[in-house]
Amino acid sequence: MHMDLVAALDIGGTKIAGALVDDRGRILLRAQRPTPAQEDGDTVMGAVEAVLDELAASPLWSGARAVGIGSAGPVDRLGGTVSPVNVPGWRGFPLVSRVRSHVGGLPVELVGDGVAMTAAEHWQGAARGHDNALCMVVSTGVGGGLILGGQLHPGPTGNAGHIGHISVDLDGDLCPCGARGCVERIASGPNIARRALSDGWRPGPDGDASAAAVARAARAGDRAAVASFERAAQALAAGIAATATLVEIDIAVIGGGVAKAGEVLFAPLRRALRDYATLSFVQRLEVAPASTGTDAGLVGAAAAALRMGARAGEAHPQAV
Ligand SMILES: [Zn+2]
Repeated sequence: MHMDLVAALDIGGTKIAGALVDDRGRILLRAQRPTPAQEDGDTVMGAVEAVLDELAASPLWSGARAVGIGSAGPVDRLGGTVSPVNVPGWRGFPLVSRVRSHVGGLPVELVGDGVAMTAAEHWQGAARGHDNALCMVVSTGVGGGLILGGQLHPGPTGNAGHIGHISVDLDGDLCPCGARGCVERIASGPNIARRALSDGWRPGPDGDASAAAVARAARAGDRAAVASFERAAQALAAGIAATATLVEIDIAVIGGGVAKAGEVLFAPLRRALRDYATLSFVQRLEVAPASTGTDAGLVGAAAAALRMGARAGEAHPQAV
């Protein structure tokens, strides 16, 4: 059986997912471990190696040509290192060289998780067929990535498109990144919940104070819940409009847990875009929910590796 496969890793603060993915983006085999996020760097690496070992135990592994990694950021694609905010044991951790030596020298590509999700949406999802797109993950944080001129644009360090830390409120609240009024400080799930609570929304008897609970309340007409989603939509719209004006994207794709709020988020977002995306060349900007779901990280990491393989002549991607 002929197979050009890539091994994909999706590394986050709670789990390390791995897969063998074919050149059409189909996942043939999966492995997963919890991230021992509070342990030392070598222990976290041990979990990555366990995922790789489980994949390598399959006869399919002989078809693997490269490894693609999408990791929580920041990442340094050029240096091959990662420093995920939620994994304190990894600071400037040489993930690429450690993975490469563990897999017998296969080429390894590293991108941030927002860039990986973008690669997945361009390959298989809502940004398919669009040459200029911004894809965003709105969940605990707000990340993103760019497709420009039909190509994934990771930037030199693999973090380009990190829209969560564009300031849309010059004198706004201090963000953990050190700046003020960042998109993430207003539109992430925890910040949507925080604003709703401070405006008088109260969780139901189950005590659920998540953004998903705020979305349910907004759907039922709760004023503070609706207002918090409107404010988040406004922040996202301002960031999207700025991006569209800078680089002429024609679609913004939004995924992540907060996007599951559906029209509670997307209706005010489309309205707010009319306020901010005003110039003639950005008025036709579309907004769409992401469609690659929970496998976006794996599929996107695979796409990044196939794309690298295409450059190096090591794999044969289809429509990456
Ligand atoms: Zn910030």
